[in-house]
Amino acid sequence: MVQADIQPIRLTNGKTVKVHTQLFINNEFVPGHGPLIETINPANEEVICKVHSADEADVHAAVEAAYNCYYTTWSKVAPAERGRLLNRLADLMERDKDEIATLDAVDNGKSFVVARDVDVTDSIACYRYFAGWADKIHGKTIDTTSDKWCYTRHEALGVVGAVIPWNYPTMMAAWKFAPALAAGNTIVMKSSEVTPLATLKFGELVKEAGFPAGVVNVITGYGHTTGTALSSHPKVSKMAFTGSTLTGRRIMESSAGSNLKKLQLELGGKSAQIVLADADLENAAYWACGGIFNNHGQSCNAGSRIFVQESVYDKFIELFIEETKKIKIGDPFDDDTFQGPQVNKSQFEKILNYIDIGKKEGAKCAYGGKRWGNKGYYIEPTVFVDCHNQMRIMREEIFGPVVAIGKFKTVEEAIALANDSDYGLAGGVYTKDLDAAIRVTNEVKAGTMWVNCYDVFDQSTPFGGYKQSGFGKELGKYALQEYTQVKVVKIQLQSKL
Ligand code: NAD
Ligand code: MN
Repeated sequence: MVQADIQPIRLTNGKTVKVHTQLFINNEFVPGHGPLIETINPANEEVICKVHSADEADVHAAVEAAYNCYYTTWSKVAPAERGRLLNRLADLMERDKDEIATLDAVDNGKSFVVARDVDVTDSIACYRYFAGWADKIHGKTIDTTSDKWCYTRHEALGVVGAVIPWNYPTMMAAWKFAPALAAGNTIVMKSSEVTPLATLKFGELVKEAGFPAGVVNVITGYGHTTGTALSSHPKVSKMAFTGSTLTGRRIMESSAGSNLKKLQLELGGKSAQIVLADADLENAAYWACGGIFNNHGQSCNAGSRIFVQESVYDKFIELFIEETKKIKIGDPFDDDTFQGPQVNKSQFEKILNYIDIGKKEGAKCAYGGKRWGNKGYYIEPTVFVDCHNQMRIMREEIFGPVVAIGKFKTVEEAIALANDSDYGLAGGVYTKDLDAAIRVTNEVKAGTMWVNCYDVFDQSTPFGGYKQSGFGKELGKYALQEYTQVKVVKIQLQSKL
């Protein structure tokens, strides 16, 4: 028997909510023909429910829906109407904010309060920001010779395929849906099989907002099957991806092997935070601590390497550990919880293994270093000190609440250490010296640099990587370029006055 779409789930606070579990294609929830996938609550290791997954034929159906809608309907909708629909969607998300945050919290393990006040709030702002752009995307007229009329058009790409990770289910969806739809594309999004629930709820809101059927399609499934079927589909014009560098490479391969899709890849990182001796050390400790431990260390831009100038090294570590001690670990539905469990068993084991590696490599574990409690995938915030750049915990993305701290003598040395990485997503510098701040931010090869703060986002500023952290920009006006292509029209005037 086919599993019905709506399933009741129980939360750790005793409440029950109903969730969608089928695929959202052409504005309907429909059964998937791939295996049912169990989604787990990482706070208690129990199965939340099973969701439908898309097999190759389901992926094809979703792409066909998006493709037909693009050509028959969506490309004819006025830009201002696209903006109105996006704003309407934002209104509905506002109405259902608590429910969406609940789904992110139960599926991912993040704090409900953080999900509501950061993830969902910022996602709503992102939809509104791009709603505003929808009718402000236009080309230029270009003067060439006097008998020609030349102009450019910034046209949509057609069907966008998107694959998102589990660390910010609602927000990663928003970063792709909002600019893609504002620019006039239709979209098929594959959510992470680890956190499918909030993105399915989003499908319900898309329909209620009044988007034509086929503009938005949401599927889930495993990467190597469902993900590959999407990224190799010939009717998908572009893939927008956030996730690991390894998967980024696979998506490049499958899009090269099919139809040379455009790509936007937002991949991993090992971002450096540099603390100079003249910095306000309390401020630096505060931001650096959030820079690594926000979202339980599961952020692509996590500032997981900290380099401290030697004269303030001991003092900074003392302040940093004091900050770390304030982190309240607990059930995602407790109001004062800052850190919940890691997303799943395999991440949990991977992180504990890195903690072992750090100890064996000779780094000193100054705080944490163990599982927290005995149920749920909780890990203590862990601080390694006296680390050097050859250690694996300094080079590899751990994607958990583990920071590696080392020291340096000169600013030049700090820049060289920060750049000694395959990644280049983000970085930070703490100093009161304007010259030093500008030199460091200019010379570190990374797409975002923060000064005297860290992990601060806004929907109007671009985000994206250098080096093996990927390419393409999300958010801000820059994102529109990723979802449009430029056509030039050249008209020969036939008569002379
Ligand atoms: P992943 O890259 O495997 O998964 C991300 C998404 O890609 C998921 O939706 C997955 O189903 C899909 N996917 C996987 N293989 C695919 C393929 N061949 N074709 C198309 N789609 C595919 O990441 P993960 O396994 O969930 O996590 C592993 C590591 O990746 C983490 O430990 C972390 O280092 C990194 N990561 C980075 C980010 C980020 O924001 N940059 C997010 C999640 C994970
Ligand atoms: Mn889950």
